[in-house]
Amino acid sequence: MKVNGTLINYYFHCKRQCWLHGNRVNLEDNSEDVKIGKAIHELKQQQSKETEISIENIKIDKISSEYLTEIKKSDADVNASTWQLLLYLKILKDKGINRKGRLEFVEKNKTKNIVYVELDDSKAIELEKVIKEVEVLLGQTEVPAAAKMPKCKKCAYYEYCFI
Ligand code: SF4
Repeated sequence: MKVNGTLINYYFHCKRQCWLHGNRVNLEDNSEDVKIGKAIHELKQQQSKETEISIENIKIDKISSEYLTEIKKSDADVNASTWQLLLYLKILKDKGINRKGRLEFVEKNKTKNIVYVELDDSKAIELEKVIKEVEVLLGQTEVPAAAKMPKCKKCAYYEYCFI
């Protein structure tokens, strides 16, 4: 599987989750959280039909002359979301489209949290390294061991890992 934004996100969130998803062990359709995420995405799609674009295997929530905006339902793992957005910025940059990144976290009953992201030279080098690391991880024959963390409770693989 080609390294995409979801895999990069999972790589930072949990190596086991990344491996499972990348090796097509997909249990995520049953997850309430994934359903909420998809619903937010669909809603935003309807609201911004004129600005949403798809490039390669990514769907961009919003793009303006300055920013590529990615909308998330939770700010529980800002680092994972940041690296996912950096990959999107790289894919755009490779096509000659230079933008800064903007993450919008729209959590219920919370003020919208916005994080700005930039793909500078050092981040671009780090990102290349991360992409290679994800490829190596996915190529491993053994799935990384499950280690219980607070975030596991919201993970679609929880039952698979612990029950
Ligand atoms: S339940 Fe926890 S250990 Fe298992 S894949 Fe999800 S985050 Fe990783």
